[in-house]
Amino acid sequence: MTPSEAYDWLRQHSVDTSYLISCAELAAWDQRTYIPPNGHPHRSRQMAALAKLIHQRSTDPKIEECLSSVENSKLNKVDDAVILSNISMWRREFDKQTKIPENLATELARASSEGESAWEKAMHKNDWESFFPHLENLISLNKQKAEALGFEQEPYDALLDEYEMGATTSFLESLFVELKQPLVGLLQQIEDSSVEVNSTIFNDDFSVIFQQQLCEKLVTAIGYSLEDGRIDETVHPFSVGIGPGDSRITTRYNEKNLGSGVFGCLHEAGHSLYELGLVPEHYGTPAGMFVSLGIHESQSRLWENMVGRSRGFWMFAKTIAEEYFSKFKQVSLDDFLLAVNAVKPGCIRVEADEVTYNLHVMLRFELELALFRNELSPSDLPDAWRQKMKEYLGISPATEREGVLQDVHWSGGMFGYFPTYTLGNVYAAQLYHAADKTLGDLSSQFAEGEFKPLLNWLRTNVHHIGQTRTPREIIRAATGESPTAQYFITYLQQKYSKLYKLSE
Ligand code: ZN
Repeated sequence: MTPSEAYDWLRQHSVDTSYLISCAELAAWDQRTYIPPNGHPHRSRQMAALAKLIHQRSTDPKIEECLSSVENSKLNKVDDAVILSNISMWRREFDKQTKIPENLATELARASSEGESAWEKAMHKNDWESFFPHLENLISLNKQKAEALGFEQEPYDALLDEYEMGATTSFLESLFVELKQPLVGLLQQIEDSSVEVNSTIFNDDFSVIFQQQLCEKLVTAIGYSLEDGRIDETVHPFSVGIGPGDSRITTRYNEKNLGSGVFGCLHEAGHSLYELGLVPEHYGTPAGMFVSLGIHESQSRLWENMVGRSRGFWMFAKTIAEEYFSKFKQVSLDDFLLAVNAVKPGCIRVEADEVTYNLHVMLRFELELALFRNELSPSDLPDAWRQKMKEYLGISPATEREGVLQDVHWSGGMFGYFPTYTLGNVYAAQLYHAADKTLGDLSSQFAEGEFKPLLNWLRTNVHHIGQTRTPREIIRAATGESPTAQYFITYLQQKYSKLYKLSE
């Protein structure tokens, strides 16, 4: 086989595996939306069969053979970002798949699946004790996984790299140091402010049928076409990219809180716009895949917050909302915006506002790091959690359910995942700032219902790039600077100083 034949084989192999993965995604989507109750056992067997097939294909020894042929050839030196990144990403994936011993991989899969079921029950009953042995085991297995994957500085780096290629503990530590004081300080100023938020504006009675219609109008306005996807209702909102021309979203409507459906939809639509913006000709190869969770989250947070909670957006969208909920006609734009952006420390991360959200993430990052540095024993997690909540947000969860048991991530063995949420916010602000500078005043474009220039800018600078650059390189190329928390801090300070009439 010539190197060029080997490359073509790798390419086809990668594409075919992606078709299988997308079948699994579709089956998973169905399982969370429309499957009849008695269909679950059969679905689990379908999923297991697909997972086995996908794993066999991803560890096929022929990959190694073809990769070495390609890596030692001229192909690996061509001036073509697509070819080069495909080769290096195939290598990265193959090494990851094969570095973890089979018994550890099996044990991790089993412990994660059991951990999630145990967590669901424990969460329901507020029962930390019953979940603890699972968590302890998952932490220990992840320590073994980090060792197997290898790292330069410390084990946590290996786990982080799974979700955010190239991110390191030391980079994140300095990022959170940069964020901590400004966020805590801003929160303090807001709490001392005399501005009163009328929270009943968004917490009232909102017909679900009208919410659905409103959400459809809003996501369509920003560029998400229902020819390329659909909106359904689930307990936990999510977005899933099935393939070119098919990326679906779900949301959760709450009759007593309009924000849950609206901002959930805008968030997930942001994820889907990214998937739909990947280059279809590169489908199934790294050049046509999303690059990291942090970049993915930057797209959802940008549309949800920087666009969806902005004055410009509601100058345009408030009249649409009034068509469905005429009571908004009696509310001034200022009061409306304040309700949309109300800041209030709470125990639950997924309900947190823009100012407190990253303090929730920082708490999890610090605890994870302490666990993987062996500075914190898993049994001390609930107390350490309470202590940090008090320190950063001034509140303390009354139950473990509102504290250490609230997120699903750890129960599924996902450590190193949380920081990608903050990276998403940080990237989003930096990207938005760069787009605003290039495209002119985005806010006045939004006020006219004009979102295309921003979407096109994101398509060119982020979506089309796929994995031909690392997350860091994408931010650098799009904004001219390496990732920094400064834009996010400035964005929050300016926005909330206006809203809460703070002296800057
Ligand atoms: Zn998200």
